[in-house]
This record gives sequence, C-alpha cells and structure tokens, in this order.
Amino acid sequence: MKAIEPLQSLLDSRDERANLRKKIALTGIPSVSLSLNVPGFPKSNTITQKFFYICLEDLNYFLKANRISVNHEGAIYQTDMAGDFFIAPFSATQITTIEIKQLCEQFEERHPLGRFLDVDLTDGTGDPVSSGKAKLCFFCRQKPADICRHEEAHDLNELRKFMFSKMEMFCTHHREAELSREISSLALKAILYEISLTPKPGLVDKLSNGSHTDMSFRTFIDSSAAISAYFADLVQAGFAFHANDLVKALPIVRNIGLRMETAMFSSTQNVNTQKGLIFLMGISLFALGYLFAGQEKFETEKFREIIKQICKDLIHKELEYPDPREKTHGEDIYCRYSVSGARGEAESGFPMVFEFGLPELLKYRELNEEALQKAFLSIAAHNNDTNIIYRSNLDVLKNFKILSGNALTHFNPESYRQLMDYCAKENISPGGSADLLALTIFVYSLITSGDTDKFTWWIKHDP
Ligand SMILES: [Zn+2]
Repeated sequence: MKAIEPLQSLLDSRDERANLRKKIALTGIPSVSLSLNVPGFPKSNTITQKFFYICLEDLNYFLKANRISVNHEGAIYQTDMAGDFFIAPFSATQITTIEIKQLCEQFEERHPLGRFLDVDLTDGTGDPVSSGKAKLCFFCRQKPADICRHEEAHDLNELRKFMFSKMEMFCTHHREAELSREISSLALKAILYEISLTPKPGLVDKLSNGSHTDMSFRTFIDSSAAISAYFADLVQAGFAFHANDLVKALPIVRNIGLRMETAMFSSTQNVNTQKGLIFLMGISLFALGYLFAGQEKFETEKFREIIKQICKDLIHKELEYPDPREKTHGEDIYCRYSVSGARGEAESGFPMVFEFGLPELLKYRELNEEALQKAFLSIAAHNNDTNIIYRSNLDVLKNFKILSGNALTHFNPESYRQLMDYCAKENISPGGSADLLALTIFVYSLITSGDTDKFTWWIKHDP
C-alpha cells in the first residue's frame, strides 16, 4: 500500500498543476511554468529547492533579457508531491507562444543543468505548446529520456545521487560567484569612500594632493579601478583553499597581490598609491572566501583569527631577516625603528581596525563624513604609521598621534586644522592609517550588510 500512496498524491499534484494552467488560460493568457525532473520520491528537498530558486531567477532574467515579461502578481510557487513548481501568466508580449517556446528551449539547452529542468508553456486556450523535440536522458545521454524512464534503464538511487550531487555543486558555485561579486563591490566601495573623504591631513583627497607631488585624486581612482579587477579572484581563492595550515595561503594571496601591484603601477605611471592596501585588502578578501566557504554569516572573531593564522610569524620571517638587495619601505622602517607596519597589523588580526576605527563607525551606524573623520582620527591617534616615519622620524610620528588624538577628543574645525597644518609643515602623509580606514569601512559594510538571502524577490511574490 505504501508505494501507492505517493503515486496517488503525485497524480493529485499533477491534476492540480493542470488545473492551474487551465485557470490561467481561462483569461486567454498564455503561461510559463518551471519544474524539475526528479526521479523517485521525495521529489523536493533542500538541495532541489535551492537549485530551483536559482534556476527560477535565471529564467526570469533570461525572459526579461528577451523582452518577455511575466506577471508576477499572478505567479504561484508551490512544493507538493510532484516537487518544486512555479507558474505565472505572461504580461502582454509582442511575440508568439511558438517563439517563446523556442526561447525556453534555448534556455534549457544553454543552462549548465538544463536537462534537469522543464520549462513548459501553455497557450491562451489551455493547450501545451510543444516543439515535439525529445530530450536526451540526463544520466546516460545516449537515449531519449522517455525511453530510459520507460525501460527503467537506470538504478533509481544512482540517478538521484547523480542528480543531487550535480545540483549541489551548481548551487555551491552559484553562491561563491554571488558572494565574490558582492564582497568585491563592498571592498571597492570602502576604498572609494576613504579616497573621497575630504579634507584629510597630508593625504590626497577630492580637493588637495596633501603632502604628495606625484599623485592626485584621479591617480587613486585609476589605481582603485585597476586593482579592483582582482578582488573576486582573491575571494574565489579563499573558497578554493582547503589545506588546514593557513600559512600556506600567503603565497597564493601574494601571487594575486603581485599582479595587482603590476596593474597599479601601470595605471599610475609607476606611482605607488596602494601597495599597503593591496596587502591588507588582499589578505582580507581571501580570508572572507575561506570564512564563507564554511558558514553563512560574517563573524569578526573568526575573520580576525583567519587573518592571524595566514600571517603567523610574518614579522619574524620577513622583517627580521629581509633580503638586503630588495628591501621595501616597510622592511627598512622595521630595521631602523622596529615598527612593524601593515605586516604587524595583519599578524595581530588588525587591532587598529577593530579596536579603534570600527567602534567609531558603529556609534553612528551610517557612513557619514563625521563618522568617517572620527574613525580615521581614532586610527591615526594609535597607529605607528610607517608612511610618516619614512618621511620624517619617531618624534614627528609622536606629535602627529597626539594631534590626531586631540582632534578626536575635541572634534571641531580648529583641532582638525591644527592636525592638517602639522602634516603640511612636516610634509608627512598618514597613508598607513588611510589604508586601515578603508579596511575599517569594508569590515563595517560586511557587518551591516547582513542579509545574504538572494531569493527574497521570488518569496515576496509567493501568494
Ligand atoms: Zn539513460
């Protein structure tokens, strides 16, 4: 008896779908439906549902791109014994149902897992619009699907296992691509917010080149555009990293980071605008891919722990024994003053960002000018900025930090002006603190962007 029950409900569900098609056709309007070809029972589970939503979104964009619109007010989404199902009437359209059918077939053919999908059309009289083409079996790809089904050519469990693993892989890739795009966009936004913050002491902003003679606001736009092309690669590298020892991730991040440096130099006519930022943002983007591979939500402590592990012993390994032939600014500063710069900041899990910059932004809960200025001042008051030391000495750094602290405590135009004047007089630029501000804005955006549910659009239209 048990085997008959699901079959009976399956038939009921199919009847109900036929009724839905007829009901829409009563208004004289053709409809489109999407369902999945899942053999055996149950026909719906968490994997099929995720897959179904993604395909539904793909179908919607495909139809829209072909200038065919669906009336979402009249759309019905349901999961029953026959599986996941969506049906909607078309809005007024210029092309015939035959033409739409051809497009839907194109959609199925081009979709990487289109063999699992059924996009069906019903015309305005309630009849199915068919092209009469037989679909190949998704498992053997040798015979038409109907023949294999009729002959029971394949083991049901094997078919299901094959199908669910393909769907799961598809959903994982889809999620990783979506997250990479979203995270990259937040990273670029953070960088642009930092560059645009005006006025800034000693730094390039919208109105001044600060203490710089070789770069302007536009130089930063150029180099930001150049390096942002690699952001998604960094996140994807994090998704793809499966080793336990995160120290092994550093050469992977560096490999992409070096390409970003090349892109930066070529976009700025060899001016170093964002080398420090490439390092900080590079590790962060990779760390996010690694973090989101294992969980849905952003967690600051976990993020910091990943950064710390990637950069474990970095000061000892790279700053204490640098290559004397190719000493960088950071290595030079460490040799002379034992100030560890961006590497030290990363090795300790970005304390300037989390202990000084971020609390200021979180007080405001929005990225307005005042919040950004205060976050910058809070970082500048505590950060041993190697960019300042490189152009001056430890005494100047000490005075700069005191003035920054004062400008934060007594937040007014006068205290800010004193700090600006001091940077101009000493010809210094707190570029390290500016990089950390960009990173702070990025982290703030990750914390507050929260909702990563991509499918609310369809759920909203669920009657
Ligand atoms: Zn087959």
